[in-house]
Amino acid sequence: MAKVKGTSWVIAALLGLAAIGVTAVLTAAEATPPRVHAELPAIVPAELPFNILISADRPVSFTLSYGGEQHEAVAQELRLELLALSGAQTLTLSARDRAGNASHHRFEIFGIPLAQPLVRAPERVIPGEPFSIRVALPPEAIAISELRISLADMPLRVFRNDSEAVALGAVPLGSAAGEQLLTIKLIDGFNRTVVANHTLRVGDYPQPVQELNVAANVLSVVTPENRALEAAVVEAAQAAAKPEPVWREPFLLPAEGRLSSPFGAPRRFVRGGQVAFHHGTDIAAPVGTPIMATNRGTVVAAGFYPIRGGFTMIDHGGGVFSHYFHQARLHVQVGDLIERGTLIGEIGSTGLSTGPHLHWEMRVSGISTDPLAWVDRMFP
Ligand SMILES: [Zn+2]
Repeated sequence: MAKVKGTSWVIAALLGLAAIGVTAVLTAAEATPPRVHAELPAIVPAELPFNILISADRPVSFTLSYGGEQHEAVAQELRLELLALSGAQTLTLSARDRAGNASHHRFEIFGIPLAQPLVRAPERVIPGEPFSIRVALPPEAIAISELRISLADMPLRVFRNDSEAVALGAVPLGSAAGEQLLTIKLIDGFNRTVVANHTLRVGDYPQPVQELNVAANVLSVVTPENRALEAAVVEAAQAAAKPEPVWREPFLLPAEGRLSSPFGAPRRFVRGGQVAFHHGTDIAAPVGTPIMATNRGTVVAAGFYPIRGGFTMIDHGGGVFSHYFHQARLHVQVGDLIERGTLIGEIGSTGLSTGPHLHWEMRVSGISTDPLAWVDRMFP
């Protein structure tokens, strides 16, 4: 077998010729055209090499042409490495024996180009503003075996329909004004990797720092142990997230009341303390005011905790979770499948709270977003 590659193939073909010379015990002049067997792929990844293996029932001189290039060799079996071209290409092959009998063959080979994903995402965002990222693929693209979208190296949950991949994201509160990079990485069925980037310009989020002056006895629940305990509850609940969004209608305001503290406000709990961002929206209302699920989902956490107080967390799929803090009573349990508007609890002042209110969060892949940006709006 002559294994040839690049410029060395002529030399290999000459060696093949020499070998034939030695064993030239040709069975008279055959009158039938050479029979040829070819092993070659019908679909190839464009711009990458592929192998073909050709054999004939007798030593022949092969003439092969593909993509405007011609290759010749005298051999009975020939292995060639060709560089795949994009689109539909014809490979022609002729085999001629010493008696002049010839056979001619044609093969169609389709070269699949590297998919160039078309990315749609906003150009400008402010921290905590939820947005969608859509990645469309050209129709001729080969099946994608893996697609990842990350924002500043943090992975976002990706869900897909037939023609595009979608993720919801947000720039975290506290991010500096400037640029953040969305990276789309996909691996196709030929194991080729494509990376596309999209730059988000992050706007300023100027807000005055609120001085909450929370009483020391209320603040005493904020200990490293309590923080760690609650973070572990949230993390475990997030880990089992449903990949696909389950909602079919816009999100709703979960309680009626006065909007008492906006999302994203920088604040200090005590004078001279550290500035922390407000990761939710506060709705102040009397104890016992009904709290409704903002949308369809599965209850993934429900219980009483030192900081969050009466706490419920709902998984809406697609990496989106709603959180409800400080409830007086809970009306749902972990595992409950609930519809949009289902009564899930009652407003209270449990946990780190100075008066009856609902602290409502909407998180996307763990990043807090402005809850009011979801109301009456259909995402993605
Ligand atoms: Zn709050």
